[in-house]
Amino acid sequence: PLVLGIETSCDETGIGIVRGRTLLSNTIASSMDEHARYGGVVPEVAARAHLEALQPAIEAAVAEAGIGLDDLDAVAVTSGPGLAGALMVGVGAAKALAVSLDKPLYAVNHLVGHIAADILAGDEVEYPTVALLVSGGHTSLLLVRDLVSDVELLGETVDDAAGEAFDKIARILGLPYPGGPEIDRAAATGDPTAIRFPRGLSRASDMAEHRYDFSFSGLKTAVARWIEQAEAAGTPIDTADVAASFREAVVDVLVTKALDACDRFGVPRLLLGGGVIANRRLREVALARAAEAGVAVRIPPLSLCTDNGAMIAALAAQLMATGHAPSTLAFGADSTLPVTEIQVAGVTA
Ligand code: ATP
Ligand code: MG
Ligand code: FE
Repeated sequence: PLVLGIETSCDETGIGIVRGRTLLSNTIASSMDEHARYGGVVPEVAARAHLEALQPAIEAAVAEAGIGLDDLDAVAVTSGPGLAGALMVGVGAAKALAVSLDKPLYAVNHLVGHIAADILAGDEVEYPTVALLVSGGHTSLLLVRDLVSDVELLGETVDDAAGEAFDKIARILGLPYPGGPEIDRAAATGDPTAIRFPRGLSRASDMAEHRYDFSFSGLKTAVARWIEQAEAAGTPIDTADVAASFREAVVDVLVTKALDACDRFGVPRLLLGGGVIANRRLREVALARAAEAGVAVRIPPLSLCTDNGAMIAALAAQLMATGHAPSTLAFGADSTLPVTEIQVAGVTA
């Protein structure tokens, strides 16, 4: 089926068009620059930016795909989780588009959309797979037995998301927002073993009873305290060493838990997604340790890893292909939508 997907859960206005498993266009407008001076995404600013960006993004995506809106078989939209005001803009636009075109509408889960992105990367995708989604808004470890019917949350962050931790440490180090790429760059010449920062919740006992939650606030505090103490002692701070040691701690926790889950559930596949996957050290360590463990790693291209509309369209296309009925119009934005709700069907009258 030919599907247009709308994604507005955070700061990217994403419009993607797919035909089944084939990507036709993936237009992304980000309001990242507008948030830079605040050091993080400001919800009202994001919502307003979506409102302005949606119409031109839809036009661009349709033109690039070389289709007409009437050709569409369905419209898809992220209904959650994410920023409530930002989600509402996309949901409103999707309903208006679906009603005006008289096309079915699929309201889907953003996190499951991140997993569906892999379909568009080519090659046959195999399930079950463990999936690690790391971005500025989420740090989630999932067990995907079936994309359209069985996704289990193994763990998520109990405080900061991984990308958020990068952004906050960058700020402490005086580096600009977004902090992830800056830390990555600064760390390149640093020694990852210079400072041993804490690995939150990663003892075997923490991972017992099938819980794989993450915590990065202790790490953030440890880095801040280390810098304060060095300053108080008048020791010069090697930014590269701090960045490399911090990055190593985050990467170590993420990869250790993801591979532990692969082992525990007997799943030799690991899918990576989210904007933090751009991190060079994370890719490197994940690939190396997975190879040792006999786990196959999949990393879709970055344009499909960060928030985008194509992954939302791809998920809806899979739902259609497996006989799922469209959502009714009686659904809304749900900022805390659980990952087990792959599609939000709405209330039937
Ligand atoms: P969401 O959580 O809804 O997916 P988001 O916009 O916060 O949305 P992304 O756009 O996927 O997330 O990713 C942005 C985050 O990724 C920022 O926190 C940024 O610092 C981080 N990031 C980007 N590049 C890197 C990198 N090379 N290393 C570490 N973190 C990175
Ligand atoms: Mg973003
Ligand atoms: Fe996301």
